[in-house]
Amino acid sequence: MSRVYNFSAGPSMLPEAVLKKAAAEMLDYEGSGQSVMEMSHRSKIYDSIIKGAEALLRELMNIPDNYKVLFLQGGASTQFAAIPLNFLNGSGKADYVLTGQWAKKAFAEAQKYGDVKAVASSADKTFSYIPKLNKADFTPDADYFYICMNNTIYGTLYHELPDTGNVPLIADISSCFLSEPIDVTKFGMLYGGAQKNVAPAGLTICIIREDLLGNARDITPTMLNYKVHADANSLYNTPPCYTIYICKLVLEWIKENGGLEAMKERNEKKAKLLYDFLDNSKMFRGTVVPEDRSLMNVPFVTDSEELNAKFVKEAEAAGLVNLKGHRTVGGMRASIYNAMPYDGVEALVKFMDEFEKANS
Ligand SMILES: *Cc1c(COP(=O)(O)O)cnc(C)c1O
Repeated sequence: MSRVYNFSAGPSMLPEAVLKKAAAEMLDYEGSGQSVMEMSHRSKIYDSIIKGAEALLRELMNIPDNYKVLFLQGGASTQFAAIPLNFLNGSGKADYVLTGQWAKKAFAEAQKYGDVKAVASSADKTFSYIPKLNKADFTPDADYFYICMNNTIYGTLYHELPDTGNVPLIADISSCFLSEPIDVTKFGMLYGGAQKNVAPAGLTICIIREDLLGNARDITPTMLNYKVHADANSLYNTPPCYTIYICKLVLEWIKENGGLEAMKERNEKKAKLLYDFLDNSKMFRGTVVPEDRSLMNVPFVTDSEELNAKFVKEAEAAGLVNLKGHRTVGGMRASIYNAMPYDGVEALVKFMDEFEKANS
């Protein structure tokens, strides 16, 4: 068996130790005689899995007691509608910052439900930076302020959060979930699809300040009402049981490997290796301004479409897969989430160096 280094933006690599543990427990989970896939979500044994996952997430992210943790289906994209339906309930106004495709999609969805405003955008330069925010542009009585914290496609990250005062800050953290410590108290809500950095696809995690719950619009579908899921401890209906189990294994792996501080250190070391190479290369260059660079998603290009295509093809043959960039940026993108080992980034940089020498 030989495993490749998978640089996919998502679904993406999982820690090998997690896959091995899941394989070992596949037929008989802890003496139950069943796979976790086959269990009732209302059984005692499953209860220990979902409660265990929540407890670990709370511990690792230091989530205060006045925040609810929800394990939902529907992906991050479903929350684009659920967020306005649940929270656009006072003035009916909200502010959005447009930093890429996912922020734009969330904004477009919210426009169906209220008076939402784009307070800033980096569309003018293909979202290659995080726009500077001017507090004078913020809506003082907004029901919430929305950002996409790490922009998976464009490779930008908010290294500093906007100061929204009393207006709750809501952030899509799909692609930076668990990549470094985050101060949950600064947010009204944090959420993300799990398939980038937490688990396989199928699970969406929402972390919501309790006082914001309970004012969903009357027309809100029951399945999009966060209060319904909070009151039922994520068991209102069948949750994505197996994905939550893998999530628990990933959280255990993170804890065993030193928690989020250690993840941050590993991720910074990996990202530095790649960015330093890009900054010194004559063939490859990163597409994002240095101060807003993501630790997780690194887009880069050469000046030639032909070379880009040749690179992606030859890299794949060398076991470095899924490096083709998003069609709106072109070129390449390396997603280097928690599960990507340092050795993987080292192999990529070595390959880039050899490619540059062979083709210039
Ligand atoms: C992948 C991604 C999404 C979309 O997630 P789905 O679970 O496929 O709906 C949304 N936001 C960000 C930042 C993403 O990276």
